[in-house]
Amino acid sequence: MKKILCGVDIGGTKLSTALIRHDGVLIDKCIDCDHADKPEQQLVDQISSNIKRLIKNNGFQESDILGIGIGCAGHIRFRDGVIITTSNLKGYKDYPLRDKLQRNFSIPVILDNDANAQAFGEFRFGAGKGYDSMVFLTISTGIGAGIIIDNRLYRGLTGTAGEFGHMIVEPGSQLTCTCGNRGCLMACACGMALPHLFKKKIAEGKRSLLNLPSDFNYEKVDGKLIKQGLDIGDPVSREIVLDSAYYVGIGIYNIFQALNPPLVVLGGGLLSWGDLYLTRIRETFNDLVKDMVFDPFNIEVSKIGPDVGVIGAASLALELC
Ligand SMILES: [Zn+2]
Repeated sequence: MKKILCGVDIGGTKLSTALIRHDGVLIDKCIDCDHADKPEQQLVDQISSNIKRLIKNNGFQESDILGIGIGCAGHIRFRDGVIITTSNLKGYKDYPLRDKLQRNFSIPVILDNDANAQAFGEFRFGAGKGYDSMVFLTISTGIGAGIIIDNRLYRGLTGTAGEFGHMIVEPGSQLTCTCGNRGCLMACACGMALPHLFKKKIAEGKRSLLNLPSDFNYEKVDGKLIKQGLDIGDPVSREIVLDSAYYVGIGIYNIFQALNPPLVVLGGGLLSWGDLYLTRIRETFNDLVKDMVFDPFNIEVSKIGPDVGVIGAASLALELC
């Protein structure tokens, strides 16, 4: 029997733990929502006991598992298994999470950035199946990415390669990113940018059909509200989707020129905007790249779905093989 995989996805609101078959099929999972405020050692204990319980409840032994992959948002120093910083949890500065967990297990523990984990999951079990290289971009509140070259994640010097959200796509932009620079892809085209984009359109005199109250707090504008707008033909929502897609298209063009991958996979909440969004992304890319594509290059949508975080984390163990 091929060994199974174990994944842990440490998010800001959910801590997901799962056992996964070697072919990516979920066996069992558990979700906690009480982890984010816990001190470091308590989280280590919580993750360890979740894993041990899942193994026992499903009739497995630790030796049936190839490895435990942990995906965590933030800057991760991969080679040392250390969280450099994470905005999802309190504390955890330069915290050696991998080694702390490793003390409780005899099988390998791997810690990586959550976007890298998702990228590898998508590569092994989703839209990347059959390719040997690809880039994954996840576009939700923020933007994360992972780079796979010749069947391995490319992590760079520290482990933070693929921070495409901080790629500058509009130097003259008034939009400031979390990094302090202006015109980053993340400042122009993700959930975080939507309140500002919406407010700006309204200030320009554009009328929204969303019927928002006069005292509406624009900070509440998110991808779901824009999707509602799209569904009722709201011109402001439509413009925001097209503008956001334009910047993502520029981002993919820059990625294409830097790495020349055969595939870019897009995931994350804003992909619910659908065909209008995706078509504009592809059109922008095609307008920029002109005749500089010499082999098939594809922009596809993630296939794994909502469990991509925990399935991706579990897939990290396959990189060891
Ligand atoms: Zn930035």
